[in-house]
Amino acid sequence: MLRFLLHYGIHIIVPIAVGLLFFKDKKIWIILILLSGILIDFDHLFANPIFDPNRCSINFHPFHSYWAIVAYIFLFLYKNTRVIGLALLIHIFADSIDCFFLFSEAN
Ligand SMILES: [Zn+2]
Repeated sequence: MLRFLLHYGIHIIVPIAVGLLFFKDKKIWIILILLSGILIDFDHLFANPIFDPNRCSINFHPFHSYWAIVAYIFLFLYKNTRVIGLALLIHIFADSIDCFFLFSEAN
């Protein structure tokens, strides 16, 4: 339960907090873009089963692979796509916290 709350908490609260703290202009747009980072979870649709609470998404789904993460870092470094890259990195961050819990529970 804590894991669930933490996971969705990061997916939703971190984008809002980052938007409010680090962006002075167009806060609402920034927050909406950051929140849309959650959309990359649609790659779960290609997985079987679609949702498995005991599976770590990092490096399992195509948009959560290490190559995808490298691409997100480049998006973040390039000024024009920074917000999109940030949105995706926050998503990966939320999912990796999830995996961290998963692995520590397993031991
Ligand atoms: Zn995800």
